[in-house]
Amino acid sequence: MMPLYSYSRIGCFSNCRLQYKFRYVEKPDIVKPTGIEAFMGSMVHDSLEQCYRLAGMQKLLTLEELLALYQRLWKENKPDTLKIVKKELSEKDYYETGYEALIKYYKRYQPFDQEIVLGLEKRIMIELDDSGQYKMVGFIDRLTRDDAGRIRIHDYKTNSNLPTQEEIDREPQLALYQLAVEKMWPDQGPVELVWHFVRFDTPLVSIRDMGQLDKLRYDYMGKIDEIEAAVELGNFPATESALCNWCDFVEICPAKGGSGGVKSDQIEIKLPPADQCLKLVDEFLDLDQKKKDVDKRRDEIKQILISGGIMGTNKFFPGSGGRGLNVSLQKSNKLPGKSADAEKYDQITELVKGSGMYEEFSTVDMRSLQKAFDGGKLPTDIRGQLSQFSSEVIVSAVRIKKNPA
Ligand code: SF4
Repeated sequence: MMPLYSYSRIGCFSNCRLQYKFRYVEKPDIVKPTGIEAFMGSMVHDSLEQCYRLAGMQKLLTLEELLALYQRLWKENKPDTLKIVKKELSEKDYYETGYEALIKYYKRYQPFDQEIVLGLEKRIMIELDDSGQYKMVGFIDRLTRDDAGRIRIHDYKTNSNLPTQEEIDREPQLALYQLAVEKMWPDQGPVELVWHFVRFDTPLVSIRDMGQLDKLRYDYMGKIDEIEAAVELGNFPATESALCNWCDFVEICPAKGGSGGVKSDQIEIKLPPADQCLKLVDEFLDLDQKKKDVDKRRDEIKQILISGGIMGTNKFFPGSGGRGLNVSLQKSNKLPGKSADAEKYDQITELVKGSGMYEEFSTVDMRSLQKAFDGGKLPTDIRGQLSQFSSEVIVSAVRIKKNPA
């Protein structure tokens, strides 16, 4: 049976499949320090949740009481280890950031009676398809209805950046929640999505139409299909990015020189006798060929089924054992990569650089940098500075070659 997906679970897969494998498939027994950003965000959330809960019982907290609540929650819930990636900041800085954000929020919204609260931390089930096969679970920070009957899905954000309206209009999480809300109360008024960027004292609102919500449903069904296929094939490559700094598994991640979750005292390399080595090599070659055949056949089947799909919709082909394949076809405007069209790629790069968005959409090519680092092709001072970040690892590879004549 398909697991129950969540927005964060699917987001984890999109960021790095290997992280997904650690978090949801292998679940290695390691200590995971809590990131300070997440902890601060959750203390602000908990404080506001409690504030609204009490307001619903006619008990309005004073600002001092709300801040005392935040202070108590921080103290009581603080884990033994808080991970602070930004070394120039301390726990106190984060604590005070949340504290200041609550003051701004309180002053803007007290006495917290602008709308009727329909739910706090409300658990919802999002059914992406009609058959109920593709399901997601979510929690709405605050669900409300105003005097005009307008339903609002509220979310508190403690991000350090304020997104643009365009970015918020593309943000999928609350729109997915809207799918569930509209199903729960089909005859209610229109739905608004509201993000409270509490550090900026700024609420941002977005409204989605049916077409956008439908596209989102198909997108997320496609994402779930992708995860299911990866789990079946064990296809979990690592994607290194700036987010690795916040990854719970960075210590054991092989892309970062870790053991992949195998404790060093468990690694025992014993070379078997020559005849067994021969058998192992033959088995490896045999498996390699089978994998190629399987991949080829898989692609052929995929193409046949895609040819039976209908543009803009989702078509399910049932199998005989209780599972089947979902084929979704969507039109999308794809930007060319360097190998597809080098000239266009250069033009796009120039355009992005000229728009001042280069940093946002570019990452350091670690593979090329590593090559230049290994090959001594970097200026001495840069190489020296990079050396402080490097660590010694054993690089191993098994490649198929012909026997020497
Ligand atoms: S450290 Fe980076 S590459 Fe490794 S699992 Fe985490 S996110 Fe993925």
